[in-house]
Amino acid sequence: MAVGRFAPSPTGPLHLGSLRTALLAWLFARSAGSAFLLRVEDLDLVAARPEIEASHRTDLAELGLDWDGEVIRQSSRRPVYDEAIDRLVAAGRTYPCFCTRREIADAAAAPHGEHPDGAYPGTCRGLTPTEVEDRLAAGRPAALRLRAEGARVAAVDRLHGAVAMVVDDFVVRRNDGVPAYNLAVVVDDAAQGVEEVVRGDDLLPTTPRQVLLTRLLELPPVTYAHVPLVLGPDGRRLAKRHGSVTLDDLRVDGLTGADVCGLLAASVGLAEPGRPVRPADLLDRFDPDRLPRRPWIFEGARPPA
Ligand code: GLU
Repeated sequence: MAVGRFAPSPTGPLHLGSLRTALLAWLFARSAGSAFLLRVEDLDLVAARPEIEASHRTDLAELGLDWDGEVIRQSSRRPVYDEAIDRLVAAGRTYPCFCTRREIADAAAAPHGEHPDGAYPGTCRGLTPTEVEDRLAAGRPAALRLRAEGARVAAVDRLHGAVAMVVDDFVVRRNDGVPAYNLAVVVDDAAQGVEEVVRGDDLLPTTPRQVLLTRLLELPPVTYAHVPLVLGPDGRRLAKRHGSVTLDDLRVDGLTGADVCGLLAASVGLAEPGRPVRPADLLDRFDPDRLPRRPWIFEGARPPA
């Protein structure tokens, strides 16, 4: 049993890549007889997008996916994230950072050993209290970074095996006061009792940061399964420019929710191509160990004959 979840950001309609991740996350949880939860990751959106959120729910339901309990929205949970950040501050694990994106990009262009691309080079780590005060007095907004102390963190992924990374000093609160994605996700997964995180493998590189935060906040550990993305024929991540990629587009092309579910199931070897299926039909044959490890190149859906 491993409680699972799907946590889309309501930035736009779900496309085949996110729908495929949702189907797989649902299959991981439901095939183990576990609860499956839905979370709206709207923390960093300037304005609420109720119509997009609603379209996510309608699309998931049309595909045949269900979820348990209340849907939580990150935008209503700021105090919970602030409390977690306060605990890190009290433990001396944070420092204010005044770097602009530009400064970080310039500094990070220098070689930095084991750190992944885009890792923070530590510029503000050693600022004295006076230097911090001077910058604040000059009106520079401060982000808050975690003092990772060069921790080398290993995570085990169901599909990728062991992933180890030296964690950089990453942001836990942005300089506009918004809690950072890595922090919110870890706090929410714990609060919702999530035990297995199934999501797109574009998030694999940030996972060791989340493992470190889970430990520092003394939250229960979770297991991970990062599933491959869907790419367009040009090898780039699936997007609108690739044609019919949302349920709405595909409906216009004559496909039902069950046809799209069939298409997605066929892409992971769970169904014959061209047949409509419902997620529940796939439960018996779902085997995480047999999932493809490579991205699916989507060349377009053929309407049913
Ligand atoms: N909200 C993230 C996204 O839409 C997913 C976060 C996660 O699953 O941890 O890409």
